[in-house]
Amino acid sequence: MRIPFIAGNWKMFKTTADALQTVADLLRLTEGVEGVEVVVAPSFTLLRSVSDALVDSPIAVAGQDCFWEEQGAFTGEVSPGMLSDAGCSHVIIGHSERRQYFGETDETVNKKLKSAVAAGLTAILCIGETLGERESGDTFKVLERQVGNSLAGVSMPQAEKIVLAYEPVWAIGTGRTATDDQAQEAHAFIRGLVAGIFSPTVAEAVRIVYGGSVKPGNIAGLMSRPDIDGALVGGASLEAESFAAVIRHLK
Ligand code: PEP
Repeated sequence: MRIPFIAGNWKMFKTTADALQTVADLLRLTEGVEGVEVVVAPSFTLLRSVSDALVDSPIAVAGQDCFWEEQGAFTGEVSPGMLSDAGCSHVIIGHSERRQYFGETDETVNKKLKSAVAAGLTAILCIGETLGERESGDTFKVLERQVGNSLAGVSMPQAEKIVLAYEPVWAIGTGRTATDDQAQEAHAFIRGLVAGIFSPTVAEAVRIVYGGSVKPGNIAGLMSRPDIDGALVGGASLEAESFAAVIRHLK
C-alpha cells in the first residue's frame, strides 16, 4: 500500500507573516485528516520559521532545491545538510522551472539527488516533457532519459524513498491539466521504468505523484487512477483553503 503524498510548492511567494498565517490555517483546515502525507515547500528564507510552526504536526517541510556539495565556496547555494538543519525532511529536485530558467540538467539533477538522499532527505524528483516534446511524440523517450539519468547510481533502499513527480511542463501554472488518462499512462510508464532499473518491488513501493494545475476540482479524478499516488501542487497550495481542499480530495 502506497500512502498518498501531497506536496505544496510555494515557489518564490510569501513573506514570513504570510507563510505563518498559511500554515496556521492549513493546520486548522486539515485537522483530523489521516492517511495522507503532506509537505510544504517554502522558499529558503522561510524554512526555519515554517518548520518551527509545524514542529510536532503531521505536515513536513521541503526545500525547493539544494546543491550537491555539503559545504564550500559556492555563493548562493544551500546544501542538503543545511536544509536538514533548517527543519526540512524533504527536498524538491529538478523542478522544470529550475531546468528552464537556471540551467538544471539531468546530470546536475542526478548529483543533487544522490547528495540529498545520502544526507537522509526524501527527494521529490520532478520529470516531465515539454509541449513540443509531447506534440512530436517524444514523451516516453524524454521520460525514459530523465528517469534513467536522474536515478543513475542511486541504491535500491534509497530509490524506495524517492517520490517521483510527473509534471508535464505544458501543464505547470497554465491551468491546463493533463487528463486523468494522460497522467495515468505516463505514471504507469514511469513505474515500469523504475521496475526495470531497480525491481518490481521497488516500483510497487515508490510513490509517483502528478503535478500540473492540480486544484480541488480535478484531484479526485487523478487520485482515482491506480498509478497516481498524490500531487505536487503549485498555485493551489498558496492558499490554505484550496490546498486543504486538495488534501481532503474535495471536488
Ligand atoms: C509546480 O510548481 O510544481 C506546479 C505543478 O505548479 P501548478 O500547480 O501551479 O501548475
